[in-house]
Amino acid sequence: MGDSAYPASWYAATRDAGADRPPLAVRIEADVAIVGGGFAGLHAARLLARQGRQVALVERHRIAWGASGRNGGFVGPGFAERSGALIDKLGLEHARQLYGQSQRGVAIVREAIDELGRRDIRKGALLMGVGKLSVSRTDQGPGFADRTRALAAALGATFEPWDTARVRALLATPRYHQAIHDPLSFHIHPLNFALALAADIEARGGSIHEQTEATDLSREGSVWRLRTHRGEITAPHIVLAGNADLGRVQQQVARAVLPVATYVAVTEKIGPKLAEAIRWSGAISDTRRAGDYYRVIDDDRLLWGGRITTDTREPPRLRGMMRNDILSVYPQLGDIRIAYAWSGIMGYAPHKMPQVGEIEPGLWVCAAFGGHGLAQTAAGADAVAAGILGDDARWRLFAPFGTRWAGGPFGRAATQIVYWHLQARDWWDEKRQARNAETLRT
Ligand SMILES: Cc1cc2nc3c(=O)[nH]c(=O)nc-3n(C[C@H](O)[C@H](O)[C@H](O)COP(=O)(O)OP(=O)(O)OC[C@H]3O[C@@H](n4cnc5c(N)ncnc54)[C@H](O)[C@@H]3O)c2cc1C
Repeated sequence: MGDSAYPASWYAATRDAGADRPPLAVRIEADVAIVGGGFAGLHAARLLARQGRQVALVERHRIAWGASGRNGGFVGPGFAERSGALIDKLGLEHARQLYGQSQRGVAIVREAIDELGRRDIRKGALLMGVGKLSVSRTDQGPGFADRTRALAAALGATFEPWDTARVRALLATPRYHQAIHDPLSFHIHPLNFALALAADIEARGGSIHEQTEATDLSREGSVWRLRTHRGEITAPHIVLAGNADLGRVQQQVARAVLPVATYVAVTEKIGPKLAEAIRWSGAISDTRRAGDYYRVIDDDRLLWGGRITTDTREPPRLRGMMRNDILSVYPQLGDIRIAYAWSGIMGYAPHKMPQVGEIEPGLWVCAAFGGHGLAQTAAGADAVAAGILGDDARWRLFAPFGTRWAGGPFGRAATQIVYWHLQARDWWDEKRQARNAETLRT
């Protein structure tokens, strides 16, 4: 079992007050038992509870203790795998429907925030800013705008191209060229959103048990028996939403998700020079594989995320690394100080798509959302909930992406080599373009 304190982060420091939930210490029955109290498990529980199902959720640590309580907070459509690759693999119509399901995930998050009565803090602690820019660090050339519009039209997406001048008018750095602007995206305080979802599940009669690890699962006739250290739940349906750390409860799913670390830092208050450097209240990320993602929070603090590695240990010099990353884009910020820095673990499948669906009768999986999980967990949970309620059309969209073994330590090593290769390619493209531009100027 885990500890009861949230790891130190700006989110933990600004979280809504709430009592610990006691571990499960008895036998209970439910319609659906859910393993994992991140967004995948919480959305599944809430969507099913809204339809009158009795849900019971177990979480090894605390609600949103994992990636869901530590992320960048960007909510937007699409998946970790790029849309172009999905069109190549599945054909346009299938890729379009998957994209549509991710848009449904965005809508579920937006509607939940409204329904939970948190509109009063739209500009405060829960919903923080609107729109997202995906900026390119290399010049995408004259065909960029047409290509972007054509892809958006093909997918039924709302994103649009911005030229370099428009980007640099808002983001004072020569590092950036064109951008894709998505007005549908927004950013939130993820930990407070998760806590609000949990409270709503309980208000609808669901039970949530923190400090409760699911350790064993077996099928007995028409029901599943889910065991924890001191209790058990019997239910006709189980949802495995344990992301990259499911443990021994179901080895096939646990082995199919590769843990990948990424980092976030929040600065001390920076003052007016932050607004001179970043004149945009939405979210920003760059399009490199291990790119930066950031946003202005709390008026004049910068929340900055970046880097990916399969080494899940937190680096000792994390604050210095994140500070250098910020200053490499915005050196004019000068003497900034990092107030919080933390790591989080994303769960990736080898195909970079989520694992969503029924893997045995009554046994559902909703995991591996990678670095794109805030809307996608809602999309996956919606598909799983619909399946449990008898409509399997939505989860079958994800059927081409199964629970294939992610390779254990060998998979980690191979993935790290691929990341290094992609990072080196990003670095080389940027350098080559800068050198060409220099040659043209001289
Ligand atoms: C630093 C960081 C930044 C990110 N930024 C963004 C972003 O800006 N936008 C975005 O869309 N996505 C982002 N992501 C990805 C996103 O946070 C995740 O994809 C999403 O939160 C995954 O939700 P989840 O419920 O699947 O997993 P998690 O949030 O990891 O939840 C899984 C939970 O299951 C519990 N659990 C596991 N096994 C068991 C068991 N056997 N018994 C009981 N409990 C168990 C764990 O303790 C954990 O709390 C980021 C991720 C990280 C780490």
